[in-house]
Amino acid sequence: MSEPLLIDLSKSGRKAYCYPPLDLPRGFEQALPDLPIELQRQKAARLPEVAELDVVRHFTRLSSLVHGVDNGMYPLGSCTMKYNPKLGEHIAAMEEFTQIHPLQDISTVQGCLSVMYNLLEDLSSITGMSWGTLQPCAGAHGEYTGLKMIRSYFLKRGETERTKVLIPVSAHGTNPASASVVGFEVVEVKSNKEGLVDIDDLASKLDHTVAALMLTNPNTLGLFEKDIIKISEMVHKAGGLLYYDGANMNAIMGMATPGDMGFDVIHLNLHKTFSTPHGGGGPGSGPVMVNDRLRPFLPKPDIELTDSGYVYRWDDEDSIGKVSMFWGNFLVVLRAYVYILRMGSEGIKAASRHAVLNANYLAAKLGQRISIPYGKLCMHEFVASASVLKEQYGVTAQDVAKALIDEGYHPPTVYFPHLVDEALMFEPTESESVESLDRFVEAFFRILDMAEDDPETLKEAPHRTPVGRLDEVRAVKEPDVRY
Ligand SMILES: *Cc1c(COP(=O)(O)O)cnc(C)c1O
Repeated sequence: MSEPLLIDLSKSGRKAYCYPPLDLPRGFEQALPDLPIELQRQKAARLPEVAELDVVRHFTRLSSLVHGVDNGMYPLGSCTMKYNPKLGEHIAAMEEFTQIHPLQDISTVQGCLSVMYNLLEDLSSITGMSWGTLQPCAGAHGEYTGLKMIRSYFLKRGETERTKVLIPVSAHGTNPASASVVGFEVVEVKSNKEGLVDIDDLASKLDHTVAALMLTNPNTLGLFEKDIIKISEMVHKAGGLLYYDGANMNAIMGMATPGDMGFDVIHLNLHKTFSTPHGGGGPGSGPVMVNDRLRPFLPKPDIELTDSGYVYRWDDEDSIGKVSMFWGNFLVVLRAYVYILRMGSEGIKAASRHAVLNANYLAAKLGQRISIPYGKLCMHEFVASASVLKEQYGVTAQDVAKALIDEGYHPPTVYFPHLVDEALMFEPTESESVESLDRFVEAFFRILDMAEDDPETLKEAPHRTPVGRLDEVRAVKEPDVRY
């Protein structure tokens, strides 16, 4: 059953609060004399008039319609929807952290500065970089920040002809978008038939006009770029830099570092790899970590530990400046710090091992009945293809994804990466037990049986949700969010 809107529950005169009458002089309501008349409301806004219990029940019912990691598996590839320990939520809700202000005297926020400073130290060792910034508020924001630094680096060196950023076809969509926003020209690098960077194609595109190669390793097919050392040598030899998209560090954290692979700059998604519930565009954090070459260009202020405690440093003249208000999403930063402290270096390694093991287990099981076109061994995720199902029964990746909702699962990522026809991209994460993976496989096989026996019903899935199949394209192209 679908949930009515609050406005549908509205009864004139009903109120969600009950206060004694106001005994102060009135006037706030009329206190907008400077607002031009055409901008002033001519009649009262039509707001829902509901009782407190109506509101509580409405949102409680809505919350039970939402799928999250806390109520079921969420194998959305490239999003790392891992379980986020409640300890982090508890600590992030403490008044000592929520009731402070970035402008209060620095002597009163030394604890928070130590959280940021220590986290930067931990992230430096996890990435093999020398320092970083916690300001960016999302992965894409981190990309923007890192690429801005690359641009400043070349401008400072007078290499103004370096205007191109090379990006593999398999890259996340934010990569070319961020490069364009910073003012670079995006040049695509082909993948070879194994799904890895095509070295010959890369070589043919490397010259004095290339500022950077933007890469993620493992790539979005879940495959490790085994020639990464060779690739980084090629790019550096041509005078370019290497940018690592570290949104999903789940496969390699504690095991290998982008620094050792030859990368100069990396962004991380704390809200994927290092705890913090995400999805729906909630608060995120995309720290950017750099090696010594790019360190002078980091956003300011930096945090420095002196004899008299932590201080802000504003004097870096090559800095690209600020990229967000104050210090980014501090509570997300805090959760990441809690996560890393709780896990310890051995726990971090174990998480990577389990993420990779789970993905390979699931790939081996699902691979018995659906094609996985690239790679025998994957890292933290893998991409299956529903193209045979489509040919044989007219059942698409989209249909399979929708049917999984009926089975109580969040669908995998669909139609990405574009290299794979009818792509279904699974990332089970380290959170799931072998029993829960087995249940998922059973559900998936039930769907494949249905594709054979009753494709028409499957094509109308989901059947057990308040609303059926929505016109997703129209929802994006003609959004109508007004009542
Ligand atoms: C999620 C993701 C991003 C973008 O991160 P946002 O926080 O959504 O901006 C970039 N690259 C990869 C590989 C990702 O998975």
